[in-house]
Amino acid sequence: MSYIGRFAPSPTGPLHFGSLVAAVASYLEAKVNHGQWLVRMEDLDKPREVAGAADSILNTLAAFGFEWDGDVMYQSKRDAAYTAALNQLKALNLVYPCTCTRKEIAAAATQTGIEGAIYPNTCLKQATKLNHPVAWRIKTIDESIAFDDAIQGHISQNLMHDIGDFVLKRADQLFAYQLAVVVDDAEQGITHIVRGADLLASTPRQCYLQTLLNIKQPHYTHIPIASNADGQKLSKQTRALGLNTAESVSQLWDALQFLNQSPPETLKRASLTTCWGWAIDNWDLNKVPKVNSIQI
Ligand SMILES: [Zn+2]
Repeated sequence: MSYIGRFAPSPTGPLHFGSLVAAVASYLEAKVNHGQWLVRMEDLDKPREVAGAADSILNTLAAFGFEWDGDVMYQSKRDAAYTAALNQLKALNLVYPCTCTRKEIAAAATQTGIEGAIYPNTCLKQATKLNHPVAWRIKTIDESIAFDDAIQGHISQNLMHDIGDFVLKRADQLFAYQLAVVVDDAEQGITHIVRGADLLASTPRQCYLQTLLNIKQPHYTHIPIASNADGQKLSKQTRALGLNTAESVSQLWDALQFLNQSPPETLKRASLTTCWGWAIDNWDLNKVPKVNSIQI
């Protein structure tokens, strides 16, 4: 079996402990499966990008001893591919233009899904407004979309009732993550996705797009995310501290401990090479706690 995994950070700040955990888990799964490990910079949202963060993330990964295969893919250079995928869906009459503002949607919505107000399909029923920025939404269906996650088990959603018709291209012309991630995983030939459980709820939307775009569904493994005492995900938004490359061994040890691999205490004083050697020899996905977040 050929295995191609990936790590796909967003350059909105320096690499922090939460992203290190995702990088370590995806890397070790690729290594023990004798696969490739690719890196993709998810820099779609240019307004949210922090200058220099992409290079800082790559430098930090290198300082921690990660070795990625091939060139780094940048989503900011992939507009043509996303446009082609959107055109494919337009040709199938599966998407429609929407000129509703957030305010209009909030006022018209009558149902709430897992991510808030469900879009009431206004623009599917009536003509869009003239001279107004246009977003593109995909029609959802009243059927359950399910997949089996290696850690989180059987996951099922009815997109029409749980999410509603969702945006693939925003009114500001930025492509949505849901479309970009599916197109890029297909382009890079990703067979196995190991990432944080914060993306679990959006996976059925990606599975739906894979089906419509005739893309083979990869295997999914959603590892628990690191949360703070308030139960919030450790992220740039919660001011998680950047990693200290001078303490790479002890932070790698902490990531292995977080993933319940029980690294020996002596490994904290070992070299980075020895630490990675132990991690690859002893990695066991089955030991990762079957929960979606762990407080640190
Ligand atoms: Zn609309």
